[in-house]
Amino acid sequence: MDKNTITVTSPLLPERAEFEQMLKEIWDSKWITNNGQFHKQLEKALCEYLKVPYISLFTNGTLPLLTALQALRITGEVITTPYSFVATTHSIWWNGCKPVFVDIEEATCGIDPDCIEAAITPHTTAIMPVHCYGKPCDMERIQAIADKYGLKVIYDAAHAFGVEVNGKSVLEQGDMATLSFHATKVYNTLEGGALVIHDAETKKRIDYLKNFGFAGETEVVAPGINSKMDEVRAAYGLLNLKQVDEAIEKRHQVAVRYRSALRNVKGVRFFDDMPGVRHNYSYFPVFINAEEYGMTRDELYFKMKEQGVLGRRYFYPLISTFSTYRGLPSASPENLPVATRVANEVICLPMHHALSDEDINRILELIVK
Ligand SMILES: *Cc1c(COP(=O)(O)O)cnc(C)c1O
Repeated sequence: MDKNTITVTSPLLPERAEFEQMLKEIWDSKWITNNGQFHKQLEKALCEYLKVPYISLFTNGTLPLLTALQALRITGEVITTPYSFVATTHSIWWNGCKPVFVDIEEATCGIDPDCIEAAITPHTTAIMPVHCYGKPCDMERIQAIADKYGLKVIYDAAHAFGVEVNGKSVLEQGDMATLSFHATKVYNTLEGGALVIHDAETKKRIDYLKNFGFAGETEVVAPGINSKMDEVRAAYGLLNLKQVDEAIEKRHQVAVRYRSALRNVKGVRFFDDMPGVRHNYSYFPVFINAEEYGMTRDELYFKMKEQGVLGRRYFYPLISTFSTYRGLPSASPENLPVATRVANEVICLPMHHALSDEDINRILELIVK
């Protein structure tokens, strides 16, 4: 790639010398996976940082979704959003369940609570919302519906690392919440992920499930999978945790610059901070109203690309349009008017800790007219 290209994201990397020191410790100990010392330290450090009681580490952010559905014995139909990364819906499919898509709210891009009840049938067992772009869903209303109908709630919180509402982590909500520590996320462990759990008994069961179901040397209590995090990633994760706050603050400053420059541009909509929320600035989506802006989203997207500024059309196309899912009755665009429109308006602008002032100027010059 041209060195003048501005990418949508850039991984947060630990100091190499510090990482090499930890690698030496791993080599010396000859303990490279299966709940080693760095794995234990990272679980503890993440519980403290995220203000949650129990965490189980995974090798990526998709396996905790699969495992949460297994652990809660979810069957039948799961209500979810089409406006997400494909892994959300795939995890439902891989568990032999049927995804049921409902529309999103324009204000958060999260699942619209007003649309959930109409999608509930006798086969519905769970709701899987996504804190899209790290913006908290309407968790109170979602939980009220779940309680009324006896449904489980599993939050795909892959974007919501460190997000808090009134000082409380969004990860505490629902029956479980999942995280992704992929290279493109605010906080990464190379690849990695986690499941946030509320009680010790469930944590134990999750730890069995991610290790083939082993509950002891010779005892297998469930048809588990292998999705453990290894020591190299856990060590890397410990180092990155020390600098994630600084990275989030740098992202915040980028968001401040974008907002002040885009505030008066006709036809460009973006999100402001929500009151009482600690945001993580994981993405900076802008929504292009072609008529008002005088250019379609795709025209702007390709114009930026030509100039070496790589935005991403997250989330376009909708998951409900992919071949596996488009035959489902809930996948029809008429059922998903807001999601369908928003997917055609969105561009996520470059957003990461290492963007320079010149980078930001170059990006904005292409958008502000
Ligand atoms: C990144 C992401 C995932 C999957 O995480 P991986 O670590 O890449 O497996 C799941 N859901 C959402 C919403 C994501 O953005």
